[in-house]
Amino acid sequence: MSAATTTSALRRDCYAGLTLYAPDQTVVPVDLSDNTNRWGMPPAASRALRQVATESVTRYPDTYARSLKEALAEYVGVKPSMIVTGCGSDDVLDSAIRAVAEPHSRVAIPDPSFAMIPAFARMNGLSPIMVPLGADYDVDVDAMLGCDPRIVYVCAPNNPTGTPVSRRAVQALARNTAVIVIVDEAYAEFADANVLDLAREYPNVLVVRTMSKAFGLAGLRVGYAVGASALVAEVEKSRGPYKVNALAAAAAVAALREDLPWVHEHVALAIDNRARLVRELRSRAIDAAPSSANFVFAPVRDAQIIALAMREQGVAVRPFSGLAAVSPALDASAGAALRISVGPWEEIEKALAALDAARTVCA
Ligand SMILES: *Cc1c(COP(=O)(O)O)cnc(C)c1O
Repeated sequence: MSAATTTSALRRDCYAGLTLYAPDQTVVPVDLSDNTNRWGMPPAASRALRQVATESVTRYPDTYARSLKEALAEYVGVKPSMIVTGCGSDDVLDSAIRAVAEPHSRVAIPDPSFAMIPAFARMNGLSPIMVPLGADYDVDVDAMLGCDPRIVYVCAPNNPTGTPVSRRAVQALARNTAVIVIVDEAYAEFADANVLDLAREYPNVLVVRTMSKAFGLAGLRVGYAVGASALVAEVEKSRGPYKVNALAAAAAVAALREDLPWVHEHVALAIDNRARLVRELRSRAIDAAPSSANFVFAPVRDAQIIALAMREQGVAVRPFSGLAAVSPALDASAGAALRISVGPWEEIEKALAALDAARTVCA
């Protein structure tokens, strides 16, 4: 038997186009590539980790992370039955997609948006349909609904563009009761607005969030979703037991119960620095998109080459190429862009210096 025959005999057809997620994780002094919290983590979470480590790891954690659900319910202002947790919001998104759609149904996904979603759709036997963003990077409601989806995914603020999604667009999607609307609010803490209230109002809206970004706990993998109890119950079946480990749950609860001021303080710093970064980029004739997240999207030609040159100077940012030309800036950059996370200003200064040097070389 040839190698090819062996491989196809082993795999599901829908896995054929899937590859492993492989961002460059080489350690560099200034890593602004993954939108994690460059100021660190809430001190209460750090204390909880040290305390809980030797006490509880010989036993299974709580099946569905009840105390974490309670702390999250208080944080977002809903009943615990409206919360489902998971091993990062990636896990919650994957579980949600699996929970609510039959095989072969369609998932409408804005383009460009979060790269994991088409993969999660495929892994669960669904068909991802990419729909270019509309004017001002907002979601094109008619085009999304026009592809007859069972699930509509929107990312608000959108990764990688950092731009908001209008409330009107989410509402228009939600009025279609046969469609499940998944709103990924990984960056909600950095935005002026969110649609959490629509998850309470509409039975078909699920708002997905994470503790990886504003809360600084990416390595612990804690995500959650908020929605009507009936919808959340289905996602929880799909998620399965024990997905949030004991250490992660303890640290997350400590952050939520004891350290929200730390989170708010560092979110405020990120918002200030983001505005400064946008101004700095525009002063370099880079048409940075207005950002509602903790990163800035900067369309530039040759983004891959520039990012490599920046990495050689010890600064990591995330390059994109071949993006849909959904704005004049992306059209001008031939679909290439850098996504730069916002951290302490000293780090951004180093990133800007590395960018300037890289562009001089590439020019
Ligand atoms: C970072 C990110 C996530 C993943 O978060 P985890 O909770 O760490 O899995 C989900 N969605 C978007 C849009 C993100 O940028």
